[in-house]
Order: sequence, then structure tokens, then C-alpha cells
Amino acid sequence: MIPKKNLVTGGAGFIGSRIIDKLINQGEFVYCLDDLSNGSKANTSKWSSNKNFEFINQCVTKPLKIKVDKIWHFACIASPELYLKNPISTTNISFNGTLKMLYLAKENNAKFLFSSSSEIYGNPKINPQKEKYYGNISTSSIRACYSESKRLSEVLCFDFIREFNLDVKIARIFNSYGPNMSFSDGRVVGNFIRQAFKNKYLTIFGDGTQTRSFCFIDDLLDGLIKLMNSEINEPINLGNTNEISIKDLAQIIINLVERKIQIKNFDMRIDEPLTRKPCINKAKDLLNWEPKIKLKEGLSKTILHYRNYHY
Ligand code: UDP
Repeated sequence: MIPKKNLVTGGAGFIGSRIIDKLINQGEFVYCLDDLSNGSKANTSKWSSNKNFEFINQCVTKPLKIKVDKIWHFACIASPELYLKNPISTTNISFNGTLKMLYLAKENNAKFLFSSSSEIYGNPKINPQKEKYYGNISTSSIRACYSESKRLSEVLCFDFIREFNLDVKIARIFNSYGPNMSFSDGRVVGNFIRQAFKNKYLTIFGDGTQTRSFCFIDDLLDGLIKLMNSEINEPINLGNTNEISIKDLAQIIINLVERKIQIKNFDMRIDEPLTRKPCINKAKDLLNWEPKIKLKEGLSKTILHYRNYHY
């Protein structure tokens, strides 16, 4: 039997590389598209000599001619620290990358999964956020390069569904963490773990009362695969509903690494969402999906990964 052919954009990144592991383990073929601007080649190096794996070192906005059955589109600059430094290329990669990949899906009549983001809800005025919430967001925000370009990419997805009947899935991914994540891209879980092991103080922006809800990668992967295999063409939130303040997260990580680490408070990031928690009723009803891994268990696994590979 000829294996299904997948294209995973951003395949050297955190979520992309973990999807690749799943696809290859189930006998499918994977093209991994990544220009290594954010991702790490080490995340996919175990597959480099596998006959079902091909690495394409190229930006997602550049022309690509391949035959595929499924496209998993993750390529983008996703860390606030990085996208706030590179706003124009963030918008460019997000919008033009999605447009290119949607046309490639159309040429191949391939299934397409778009990794949208909880960031499309902006600084939400309702908590938890349901998919039908329009968000609280401004084009002039310094975070708009990410949030608005994800929104515009969703617009492209809906129009490809309407105009070409393309089978597009839209996953609105909330904060996630776990092995293969970057420990140096400025995102909070990676930052805190790295800081704790380097015996540095943990950096909290603001007073740490802002909240996020963190989903362990294994749970997220199950949700993404269920969504890709479904008949659903509407946006679906994928995330953990366990909302926690950033100062409580810091304390849990300090306890888990069993070190005496100080916390230092810095200025709050401008325009950042103060609360974030997904409503996942739609994922529960339509995909029979909900996260299973508790925060402390997931953080312990992530810390072990850091110890084994980065310490
Ligand atoms: N944060 C923090 N210290 C850090 C990194 C992040 O206090 O070293 C906070 C950040 O201000 C935000 C939350 O942690 O409230 C999550 O930030 P992250 O960059 O991981 O992603 P976001 O959810 O903002 O996209």
C-alpha cells in the first residue's frame, strides 16, 4: 500500500516535529518544510535517514511543487518575544505562508489543517473563550502582527472552503508545552525551566496575576489528529481548561526542580492578554477530545526532557 503523503510546515518546530513523530510511527510519509529560522533540526534528526522522511529547507512563503494528501500548516513566528522583534516578517510569513499552502492544498485536493491561535481572541472580555467569541483586539496593537495575521489566515481558510470546497480544519491552539519546545524562545514555561536550572531568578512580567491555561503536547497532538481525521470545517479550540496565574506557575516549577530560586518582577508586556482559558465544549462534543494530563505531570515530563537534552 502506498503511504499517505503529508507536508508538515514548521516541521522542525515544537508542535510540527511532534506531529511528524506520530505520522512516521503510523507508517505515513512526511515532507518536513522548515527554514530553521525558529525550529531546531535536532527535533527531527532521528528521522533523517528514514525512507518516509524528507526535509525541505525552505521558507513557507517560497514556491513548492510536491504531491501530498494532507498539509499540516504550523510554520509561523509564534513566540511573543520573537514576533514583537520581527513584526513585519511575522505578518508576511503568517499571511503569505498560509496563502501559498492553501493553494498547494487546492492543487493536490489535499486535506489542510491550519494552526490558528488563542491569540485571535486578543485580550478577551469573556472567560472562558468560546469559538463564537469575536475577540477584543486592535490592528494598532504591537501584538497585531501575530493576532491579526492569524485572523486573516483564518479568513483565507474560510474562503478556500467556500470557493473551492477545500477540506480545511482550523485548530485554535491555546498555550501548550512539553518535550521539543524551545527553552530559549522567551515563552514562559521554557523560560522558567531554563532559568531555574541555570540558578537564575524567574522573570515575571507584571505582578504575575495574569492567567494562561497550559496544555501538554501529547494531549494537543491527539486533538490535532482527531480534528484532521474529522469532517469538521469550523474552528475548534484545543487547549487545557486548567487556568493558572503566572506567579502560581512559577512556584510550581520552583517546587518541581527542588531549588531555591528567587522571582523578580519586570514591566508587563504591552497589550498582553490578562486572562486566557478555552471553552472546549465543541472539541468534547464533536471530536470526543479533552486533555488528560495534569499540569504537574506534564511539567515533570518537560523538566525531565530538559535535564536529558539541554542541561
Ligand atoms: N511571562 C513571564 N515571564 C517570562 C515569559 C512570559 O511572566 O519570562 C508571561 C507573559 O507576560 C504572559 C505569560 O507569561 O503573561 C505567557 O507568555 P508567553 O510568552 O509564554 O505566551 P503568550 O501566552 O503571551 O502568547
